[in-house]
Amino acid sequence: MRVVVQTKREFDAKQAAAFEAKIQSLEQQMQEANDRLSDMQRQVYRDPLLDGIANWLAFNEQLGLTLATSQEREEPCCLIMFDIDHFKTINDTYGHQAGDQVLKTISTCVRSTLRPADFLARYGGDEFCILLPRTELETATQIAQQLCDLFRRTSLSYETAVLQVTLSVGVAALCPEDSPETFLERADQASYYAKEQGRDQACTEAVLSPDEDSPSKLKKALGFFAKALPFKKNAA
Ligand code: GH3
Ligand code: MG
Repeated sequence: MRVVVQTKREFDAKQAAAFEAKIQSLEQQMQEANDRLSDMQRQVYRDPLLDGIANWLAFNEQLGLTLATSQEREEPCCLIMFDIDHFKTINDTYGHQAGDQVLKTISTCVRSTLRPADFLARYGGDEFCILLPRTELETATQIAQQLCDLFRRTSLSYETAVLQVTLSVGVAALCPEDSPETFLERADQASYYAKEQGRDQACTEAVLSPDEDSPSKLKKALGFFAKALPFKKNAA
């Protein structure tokens, strides 16, 4: 009888050890699957070239969330869009790798100047967006102007070449009735207007007082880009 009990105990102990090993193995597999999932999420939301910078997908998700929160709380929010001037010439003159290096340097520099709540993303090609929650137009405009000034004053080096890069920047302030598309559209128009005005400058929407003029009248007078007004270069 004692032998039978002993044998049964040994069998149970082996079974318990086998279960324990199986559980550990499953836990490890689960951890590896979670790690793979995190990697995949990073890849989906990050720009493949500019390590650590969000891509347009991440930006659009963040834009939807921030816009909804800002409108619900009636908080100001601004959007900056900027595009590198004559970027194709850098590729054509110094090669695609030089262009890649410029994109990396610009994204790193811009990120280092932003506040923790600001959200920088590469929207595509040589175009970037910055979402500035709880920010008035005046502050966003100063930030946009500072970005222009920073790159105008800075020379970027690639191998033996010294590259001069400028930006065309557009700024829009969130309206209560804005959708993500209309908000983006106005920042894009302002950035495009900066290009039209000679590049290397920041432009913003004009905030017109109804007493001075009606927006529709101004639009008719100046055309499609009437809402964006340029700031003077090197303005204090
Ligand atoms: P503009 O002043 O009007 O903005 O002119 P641009 O030359 O900057 O603009 P354009 O749209 O003509 O050219 C953008 C170039 O950006 C073309 C494309 O080959 C290049 N580009 C887009 N993505 C990348 C990238 O990841 N790396 C590099 N090196 N070039 C890129
Ligand atoms: Mg460009």
